[in-house]
Parts: sequence; C-alpha cells; structure tokens
Amino acid sequence: MKALTFKGGIHPHDNKHHTEKIAIKSLKTPGKLFFPIQQHIGAPCEPLVAVGDEVKMGQKIADSKAFVSAPIHSSVSGKVVAIEPVLHPGGSKVLSIVIENDGKDTVHESVVPKGDLSTLEPKQIIDIVREAGIVGMGGAAFPTHVKLSPPPDKKIDYVIVNGAECEPYLTADHRMMLESPEDIIYGLKAIMKVLGLNKGYIGIEENKQDAIKVMKEYAAKEGGIEIVVLKTKYPQGAEKQLIKVVTGREVPSGGLPADVGAIVNNISTCTAIAQAIKTGMPLISRVVTVTGSAVKQPANYLVRIGTSFRTLFEASEGFNEDPAKIIMGGPMMGIAQFSIDVPVVKGTSGLLALTKKDVALKPESPCIRCGKCVDACPMNLLPIYISAYAKKNDLEKAEEYNAVDCIECGSCSYVCPSKRHLVQSIRVAKQAIIAQKRAKK
Ligand code: SF4
Ligand code: SF4
Repeated sequence: MKALTFKGGIHPHDNKHHTEKIAIKSLKTPGKLFFPIQQHIGAPCEPLVAVGDEVKMGQKIADSKAFVSAPIHSSVSGKVVAIEPVLHPGGSKVLSIVIENDGKDTVHESVVPKGDLSTLEPKQIIDIVREAGIVGMGGAAFPTHVKLSPPPDKKIDYVIVNGAECEPYLTADHRMMLESPEDIIYGLKAIMKVLGLNKGYIGIEENKQDAIKVMKEYAAKEGGIEIVVLKTKYPQGAEKQLIKVVTGREVPSGGLPADVGAIVNNISTCTAIAQAIKTGMPLISRVVTVTGSAVKQPANYLVRIGTSFRTLFEASEGFNEDPAKIIMGGPMMGIAQFSIDVPVVKGTSGLLALTKKDVALKPESPCIRCGKCVDACPMNLLPIYISAYAKKNDLEKAEEYNAVDCIECGSCSYVCPSKRHLVQSIRVAKQAIIAQKRAKK
C-alpha cells in the first residue's frame, strides 16, 4: 500500500541510526531529583508536601484545582530537602520540589491496579488519567484528561496515535513500539472507550518497518485498530498534518483537532495510560533518547522524571568533544539548553548534543526569491512575506498572512539557500499577535 503524506515538508537526514537498534535501558537515579511544579500546558501546581516530609514512589506531591493542569508525583521514595526555584528546561527558574532519593523505591499506598478496562466507565478512565498526571509526552505536555473531555458539541470520531516520530535523531517512540506494543494498544483502547469509538488509528512512518510489523501483529489480535503507513517526511507527525493524512479533514485556521472530530495522542502517553490503569502507577518515568554526534554512547533510557540531564549524559559516558549545542527534543522543534543541570520533565522526549561541525551556520544573506520556503511550508503559508513583515514589526500584515497558523516546524528555514532566519522571526511575530489578542479580551 502506498504511504500517505501531506503537501510540503522536507527530508532532513534522519540520523536515527545512533539509537534505533539499541534496546531501552533502565536508568537508576541516585541523589537528588527535581520536580518543577509546572511541567504541562495550563495552571501550575501547588506543592502538597513540605521540606522534611518523607515521600514514597508514586505519591502525589503537587496538584492544582484548575481543570487545565496535571498533578505531579514523586518518582522515588525519599525526603523533601528543598522547595525552591530551579532551572527548568524551558529556560527560566520554576518553583521545584527537591527530593533526596533513599534508593528504596518504597511504593505509595495509592499505587494499586485501577480495575479492568472492560468494566471501567469512561468517566472513571478520565479520572484515572487525570490523577496519574498524564500529559502529551511528545513535547507539548497538554493535559490528557482535558483532551479526553471534548465539549459536548464536538463529536470525536477519529482517535489517532502518533507513531510518526518525524524529528531527526529521536527514536524513543520507535523503541516503545518494538518493546511495549501491548501497552500502546491498551492505552489506545482506553481512549477509544472514553470517546465511544470502535476504531482507532496508529500512524507510523515507513522508515520504521520493524515497528509497523510489530504493531500490525498486535493490532490484528485486538481488532478495531488500523496501522496507517506514512511517508517519511518532516513534519509528518505534526498534529494537523497527521489528521489530514489519516482523516482527509483539515483543521481550520485557528482551530483545534476537536473542531474536525479528531484527537491525537503520543505513543508514550498511551503507555502511561496503560500503566496508570493496570498498575496504578502515575506518570513518574519516561523514555528519553540521548544522542547526537557529541555523545559517546547514544542510547534510549527509561528514566525517572526529575533526573538531571547531567545524569543521562554521564550514563552515556559523556561527550566526545565539548558540545556546541544541547537541545531538549529534536533538532527541528526542540529547545536549546544553557545548562545540563536541569531535570527531565514529562515532555522530555530526547536530549541532543551536537558538535561544532553539526551546527556550523552560514551567515544570513539577502532573499533570492526562489520560493523554496513557500513550497516547503506544510501549512501553505508564505514564510518569505510573514518573515519580512515580522522583521518590520508590522503585526497587522503578518496576521493577514496567517502568522498564527505557523506550527514553528522550521521547514522554511531548513530549505532557505540564503539561510534567512524565517522561523525565528515568524515565531516572534506569532507570539506578539497572540499576546495582543489576549490583552484585548
Ligand atoms: S512558516 Fe511556520 S509552518 Fe511554515 S514552514 Fe515555516 S515554520 Fe513551518
Ligand atoms: S527560501 Fe529563502 S531565499 Fe528562497 S524565497 Fe524563501 S526566504 Fe527567499
């Protein structure tokens, strides 16, 4: 069957060879762990513990009354030694609960199986997901219980699991599909039950033939799940592009997936849902790809939330040379890091350490009007014009050219022969337009 895809996009070298064949390693975390109270889109949590408290693994340590938020749990047993601002991978200091690991992994009493999927009611599943602190684990970290509770006027008829993993270098989802297919299917079935659907979809890029084979085998055992083979192209895993390919529906400008009856969930989010129901363990760990040519031993680790990036790089035997750039996430949409003394949060899909050679940048030169940025844009935007207006600070014009629809995929910058800083300028304009709109409300 022909692999499906969308219009536009790019074909960067995927660089997945470093880690795609290596099984996930479990990482022990000695010493202190750091739990920022903001690890998700939405309201930050309030600490539920105080300095000096003993805590257990899986214990809720921070929560919020806001609907769009997700509680935070300790990933180890030990003692709260500080509650103080700590550098967050987002770049600013965020109030964090610091726990000294006692190494015993004493499990909290609340961590018990939550029942059988066949007998759980949709509302019970949503409550389990909420209480387990589950968020979108592809990077955006949007609370999953909110996604599973669409407004009554938005009938969802497509649930899609995103197995595209289109960002170069990252292989955590690929390894999960090979090593935990039952949990992925179980998590998807739970979501289907919540939304009253008999059919679910898992989209996988065709460069992961082994994962396609495994997931097809497990999906066939269950029934009601279709594996959709996607062309290997960036940004194939972007929500709007994935929805268009699987459903043929287009999310309208300024709209959400629910507006076209679809929701998309990440591979790790599905396994987290499965664990929360089957064992009662909340979201306290995740798989992180540690890679890049500056890393001595690239690998995928199952790591406790709160572990410092430094611990992960040390597990990979450090660096071949001083990294010129460290990124949380993939090279296209990840966040540059100033320090490796920051914790793994729920949205940390990968750590990338690049050498000087990898990041050598040609200087920006004048636009030669080649149109390559326009052809590459998966959102059918005109990056050349939006960027020009953004640089002139003409927000009205930038908005007219739909700057807010930019998904910040970086495809335009990637193809530009003049190395124009397109995505950077468009991002600034987009944020300013959104801020202006909020201020007017
Ligand atoms: S304008 Fe935005 S959506 Fe279009 S290619 Fe550039 S970064 Fe991607
Ligand atoms: S790709 Fe670069 S040089 Fe070509 S039109 Fe776009 S901005 Fe100009």
